[in-house]
Amino acid sequence: MFLGLDKNIKINMRKYKNEFEDFRTNTNIQRCEKLGIALLILNMILIAIDLVVFKDMRAETPSYLYLFYLHIIAFILIIAWFTFLKLNRKFNNVIDEKLLYHILINIALYWCVFIGLNDLYINGQITVFIICILAISACVYVTPVEAFITYAISITIFIIGLVFVIKDEQILYAHIVNSGVVTFIAYIASNLSFKGFARDFINKKNILESKMELEVTNQKLKEYEKLRTAFFANISHELRTPINVIYSAQQMMEFTLNQNELKEDEINKYLIMAKQNSHRLIRLIENLIDITKIDSENFQVDFVNLDIIKLVEDITIAVARFVEDKGLTFTFDTCVEEKIISCDPKLIERIVLNLLSNSVKFTEDGRDILVYIYLEDNKVCISVKDNGIGIPDEMKELIFDRFIQVDKSISKRREGSGIGLALVKSLVEMHRGSITLNSNLGEGSEFIIKLPDSMLVENKKIENISNLEADYLERINIEFSDIYD
Ligand code: ADP
Repeated sequence: MFLGLDKNIKINMRKYKNEFEDFRTNTNIQRCEKLGIALLILNMILIAIDLVVFKDMRAETPSYLYLFYLHIIAFILIIAWFTFLKLNRKFNNVIDEKLLYHILINIALYWCVFIGLNDLYINGQITVFIICILAISACVYVTPVEAFITYAISITIFIIGLVFVIKDEQILYAHIVNSGVVTFIAYIASNLSFKGFARDFINKKNILESKMELEVTNQKLKEYEKLRTAFFANISHELRTPINVIYSAQQMMEFTLNQNELKEDEINKYLIMAKQNSHRLIRLIENLIDITKIDSENFQVDFVNLDIIKLVEDITIAVARFVEDKGLTFTFDTCVEEKIISCDPKLIERIVLNLLSNSVKFTEDGRDILVYIYLEDNKVCISVKDNGIGIPDEMKELIFDRFIQVDKSISKRREGSGIGLALVKSLVEMHRGSITLNSNLGEGSEFIIKLPDSMLVENKKIENISNLEADYLERINIEFSDIYD
């Protein structure tokens, strides 16, 4: 249609269609109420003039009588329109208000068509028609199609009227051209005001949306900043504590050695302390390096086909003694004896040890830890379950985010950097797997890893786990280094 909307506005209009239509209807109804009141007052004045000034003329000239009737009809129609509007609102808009403003625009338009024709009959002018139709075009916001239909019908009726009123052919053509041009200008004006209205609406909407987006980003930044500060405070503590312990152990060793008495037990005690804290430092630094590598997509994964059941079983056997030493009961169970899938054994080891070290860390003495493997929906599921302190509902999603730790009062101030589970999640996802958590506060937690039951097709060779020369003990010492007796 003529003077169509810009492509950009059209795209946005589709997005906000309903909101825009509601806003347009409200604005138009408000404007129509004002237009209706203006027309009511105008018609009242005109009726008064008709009654007082044109009293005698009415008897002589029929057009004054028609004019009088026209003012009365317009007055009644507008009162009826207002009544209808109020009733419609009372009955929760049984009729779409859009229809109501179209009715008022048409009342106004036909009022201006007939007043124009009368004016022409009495004065030979169509000035009233010109003024009225231009004023109405600026009043409400109608779409180009609605404007085209409304103006086309009203100008057709006006031209039919002209043919009846004007006898002189030349004057008739002149008036047809004049009224046609004016209606066309009114149509363009109506289109321009609709376009301006739509553009304003879209701009406001976009500004509002950008503002909201900014607020969300701002909020996220603030939270990130809080997290960053907390992380640095925590990481400084995590770095300083083992260094302090190593330093103190070394000083104590020096002191013991200087005493000229060889106290082997004491030296051993300090050596163990230094070793455990070195492991703790290695774990922290390794984790930090790994998440940086994952971020820069530089993390190396070496997939091989191997028996995942055997791998997990070997890890758990290696860890069992360590866990039992902590006073916990440890069980490994599986529903299948063998399952060959493609995975990176070093990463599976990291994942399982990480989950196990958390279970040990957050489970009181005398309780149980269970590792169970089962198959489900073409997936190999590894469940690591404990009946420890559990995780509160609001933290269940968050603990997989970096640097997140459950409130220290709940986790009883255990050591940790909050990187472990985020790393585990990334490592599981590198295997195209997923990790879920079932937990109840005070009752325990179950972490379930689901790995796709698939093998490498390009390399059908199946690795023998013992060939991998896994040094579980060193790894366990590192992964369990922040657990103290
Ligand atoms: P951290 O190094 O602090 O242990 P993780 O990312 O491994 O970091 O764990 C994040 C937090 O999740 C822990 O600080 C702890 O609050 C909670 N959590 C993890 N595993 C368990 C579990 N098995 N039982 C209870 N809480 C757990």
